[in-house]
Amino acid sequence: MAKDPLKPLISHAKEYGFVFPSSEIYGSPGALYDYGPYGVELKNNIKTYWWKAMVQVHENIVGLDSSILMHPRVWKASGHVDAFFDFFVDNKVTGKRYRFDHLVEERIAKLEKKGKKEEAESLRQQLEKALSEQNTEYMYEVLIKNDIRDPESPDKTEWTPVRHFRLMFETNLGAGEDAITAYLRPETAQGIFVNFLNVQKTARQKIPFGIAQIGKAFRNELIARQFVMRMREFEQMEMQFFIRPGEDEHWFEIWKEKRLKWYKAIGIPEEKLRIKPHDHLAHYAKAAVDIEYKFPMGFKEIEGIHARTNFDLSRHQEFSGKKLQYFDSDLQESYVPHVVETSAGLDRVFLAIFSEALTIEQLGGGKQRTVLKLHPILAPIKVAVFPLVKKDGLPEKAREIFNQLRFKYMCFYEEKDSIGRRYRRHDAIGTPFCITIDYQTLEDNSVTLRDRDTMQQERIHIHELEQRLDELLDWKTLLQKVV
Ligand code: ATP
Repeated sequence: MAKDPLKPLISHAKEYGFVFPSSEIYGSPGALYDYGPYGVELKNNIKTYWWKAMVQVHENIVGLDSSILMHPRVWKASGHVDAFFDFFVDNKVTGKRYRFDHLVEERIAKLEKKGKKEEAESLRQQLEKALSEQNTEYMYEVLIKNDIRDPESPDKTEWTPVRHFRLMFETNLGAGEDAITAYLRPETAQGIFVNFLNVQKTARQKIPFGIAQIGKAFRNELIARQFVMRMREFEQMEMQFFIRPGEDEHWFEIWKEKRLKWYKAIGIPEEKLRIKPHDHLAHYAKAAVDIEYKFPMGFKEIEGIHARTNFDLSRHQEFSGKKLQYFDSDLQESYVPHVVETSAGLDRVFLAIFSEALTIEQLGGGKQRTVLKLHPILAPIKVAVFPLVKKDGLPEKAREIFNQLRFKYMCFYEEKDSIGRRYRRHDAIGTPFCITIDYQTLEDNSVTLRDRDTMQQERIHIHELEQRLDELLDWKTLLQKVV
């Protein structure tokens, strides 16, 4: 069987305290993960970067933190109760399970690669028909008619009938006869739509404006592979941008560009990002693309950008009986605003950043080092402070510096092991700067500042340290690149 290309990433993430399988001591149920001490820092830094880039620098975007459990009618209106299903088949011979749409999409991609455009188009139409009609018998027919086999065992393929499965987790609100069935939200966006007027009025926003939210979402994913790519509990960073009807394409292009800049500004190379139009557009959507990142296993979606027209607000208006309109004083008319949304999966973005950063460097003499080349702003620990040795007053001096810097940055004090080993440990978790206090420090108050990527060390006076770090860890320089 082919080696899992994510394996080195998964091992590094576990060994260095970034990501652990959930409830591991009981044998993790799968597709659930916990973020360890460095993982949670990196994740929080990604969230802060997103929040600053979206909310702080845009005067017309404001934040929201809506509840995970909502009125069940929300999900009826959004279409999730009736249409949020996955369709899957099992290979009777190997027991392996696949999503129907994934199998067909894989075949379409292969046909396109071979230049068989017509065949690809015909298959795409069959996929669209099958999904829009939610017809499992027809889905089975599509697999058989097109001789679509188990990609891992093509010679041993015998499909079960296609079955469907609700992706939303159900729970109860209240108890006894009063209990009603509710759902754990499968996306954060609906919390934004139902608060549209509350936010618009209280934040005194005029169209165009956006509402941003970061929060947990839940999907009972059936086929959970590829680490944090497909989880049952994950986090989304979503922004709905409310616009005048007819301006959909204009804002769609703007947000596509801005979101790409956000990834590039933290060092994701252009050639590892690609924009992929959706194969099948929802009937209400004007346009939809995915931003994909080239993971070790190939290009995969990390964010969706969708022009959703006024579908969601209109549906909530219809189902709640409450008007969700905006009076445009410039046009002197009321309308249900249209929406362009940017919907990023925090865990997939985390994995993309982690994957891009993890580097094995050959140092000569058969030696190598593992270094996590994260953008310094995202690094879990910004500064590690080391006394060269554990004696002669060096630890005390080092503690003084640590105590000065820790109020500003995530710092780490360490005196165990040789200095080389301490550097390596911090390379592996991505600490961009290490400060070493040595005998010369006691004489002239200078320390060495080591750069993670170049491994260069320079001597710098203690009094200049803070200003120097402020320059190297400057939010302004980064954020100016993303507007
Ligand atoms: P996919 O086709 O891969 O299932 P999707 O198109 O259903 O994803 P969206 O509903 O557009 O995803 O959700 C927006 C973002 O949320 C995705 O781009 C992805 O980054 C993230 N996301 C969706 N499902 C999961 C999941 N199960 N685990 C982790 N992240 C997810």
